[in-house]
Amino acid sequence: MSSSSCSRCGSPSFYTRRYSGEVLCKDCFGASIVEKTRRTIKRYGMLRRGDKVGVAVSGGKDSLSLLAVLHSLSAAGGYELVALTVDEGVKGYREESIQHADWLANKLGVPHTTVSYKGLYGFDLDAALDWTDKREVSSCSMCGVFRRRAIDEAAQQTGVDVIATAHNLDDFVQTFMMNLMHGDVDRIGWLDPLIVDSNFPFRRVKPFMEVYEEEVALYAHLSGLPFQSRNCPYMHEGLRSEVRDYLNELESKHPGMKNTLLRSSLSVTAKISQAKTKEMIPCQSCGNPSSSGDCAVCRMQRLVMDHTTVPSSADE
Ligand SMILES: [Zn+2]
Ligand SMILES: [Zn+2]
Repeated sequence: MSSSSCSRCGSPSFYTRRYSGEVLCKDCFGASIVEKTRRTIKRYGMLRRGDKVGVAVSGGKDSLSLLAVLHSLSAAGGYELVALTVDEGVKGYREESIQHADWLANKLGVPHTTVSYKGLYGFDLDAALDWTDKREVSSCSMCGVFRRRAIDEAAQQTGVDVIATAHNLDDFVQTFMMNLMHGDVDRIGWLDPLIVDSNFPFRRVKPFMEVYEEEVALYAHLSGLPFQSRNCPYMHEGLRSEVRDYLNELESKHPGMKNTLLRSSLSVTAKISQAKTKEMIPCQSCGNPSSSGDCAVCRMQRLVMDHTTVPSSADE
């Protein structure tokens, strides 16, 4: 078959998957992403028949794609979907992505719940960052702590069994490598897709963890999903973007390298998570699971409110 036609159906080619040598037309490319996601879900037992699945939808391309793909798999998989969105309160940025999330959830007929930092914590991210010394905590680490708890709250409100997030293969490998670079070996164990955290009433899964970031972006584009025009004004990724660039450079010289790194990360992750079971105790202030009796969210809230306590280490 000529290299200009789809290796599956013979239609005009659209994309060459360098790591496998496959040449794909638009339809077969889209179908391959759905099929890959279905296999990941099955391999790790991520979603089960009868599950109510909360899909964390920020409104960016990855999470919109996840909602679309899970929707196309949900009838055969026997699970129902709820879209969960967190409004951090970032003026001029968040409104657009929330509209995108609303638009897609409506189009697919998926119920959509939004929770806000303002409602949960009493302040939005704009205010929190305004009040806080940037040297004490980075905007992304503060936002990450608050966002995770906010998603948990939305999950509790809607009574889901499992939370699905749109982390892709690149995110997974980047996080693994950043944990190595920070010397944070325990956290590597938490990446294990098979870990069951009995401290929470719901599971957490990443159905896109075996899909390359660029292929998720291409899927979003092909599916006509709306594109967010602005980046978060507080985004400063530092080390993560250096790791991303490095991995992409490796991949372009050695196609398939990111797949290999994912496999290696997963086997290291599984060994560490078996060796270590998290022992959690309820936070004295809010009752949520924590490692020290004082959870990361409460520490961060105090930091915002009175600046007297610096968080020692991140809990979540
Ligand atoms: Zn084809
Ligand atoms: Zn707490």
